[in-house]
Amino acid sequence: MAGIHIERVTKSYGQLAVLKDFSLEVKDGEFVVFVGPSGCGKSTMLKILAGLEEASSGSIRIGGRDVTDLAPGDRDIAMVFQNYALYPHLTVRKNMGFGLKMRGTDSTEIDRRVTDAAKILGVEHLLDRRPKALSGGQRQRVALGRAIVREPQAFLMDEPLSNLDAKLRVHTRAEISALHKRLGVTTIYVTHDQIEAMTMADRIVIMRDGIIQQIADPDTMFRKPANLFVAGFIGSPG
Ligand code: ADP
Ligand code: MG
Repeated sequence: MAGIHIERVTKSYGQLAVLKDFSLEVKDGEFVVFVGPSGCGKSTMLKILAGLEEASSGSIRIGGRDVTDLAPGDRDIAMVFQNYALYPHLTVRKNMGFGLKMRGTDSTEIDRRVTDAAKILGVEHLLDRRPKALSGGQRQRVALGRAIVREPQAFLMDEPLSNLDAKLRVHTRAEISALHKRLGVTTIYVTHDQIEAMTMADRIVIMRDGIIQQIADPDTMFRKPANLFVAGFIGSPG
């Protein structure tokens, strides 16, 4: 059971209310996409889930466990960022195993998981390279690999494709969807790209100014947008 339960989360930075009463239940194994214009609070919600920011109020449960006050490392989730955040001085192998090593996992187990993840992602031949010797797409796959090896209860992905060119973006999008089918790990994926949302999501959460406008599967959102904003953003006739 690794659903994610977000209950009445608010977040303000000083006078600025960034999230206003955000509630959502993500089912175990579901792929949910947060979409909305820049500045609507998507990354903030993800950071609160990851424990990198503290909510002003509200609570979060992951797999039935209240994690609201837990440190990032104790939440059993893995975050993938748009800028990859790989360590430049470490090989791909060490980059992928780094989190496990910090956690004290033994080296045989780290090796096994890194090799498995590298196979899944098709980066086995790159394990001894350093990040600067990789293309953007390869770096992004290594960043995904680093998340997979942790075998977390959930993945949080913040615009992981936005640094890739259009063609590679389409390709990697399909890879992430295939990976999700294969691993079945609960995922929240953030994007400002409505096409990404429509093609990848089990359900879409569309946001504007820190408020959820609609939560629905892509087909329903397209056919029955809740308001003009949703219709305009998703590109349906309304
Ligand atoms: P999105 O990811 O949807 O583009 P963000 O969650 O990054 O939006 O930001 C939402 C709003 O919160 C923006 O107005 C942004 O400027 C503001 N914001 C984000 N982080 C901070 C911070 N650390 N301090 C002050 N304001 C912030
Ligand atoms: Mg963002």
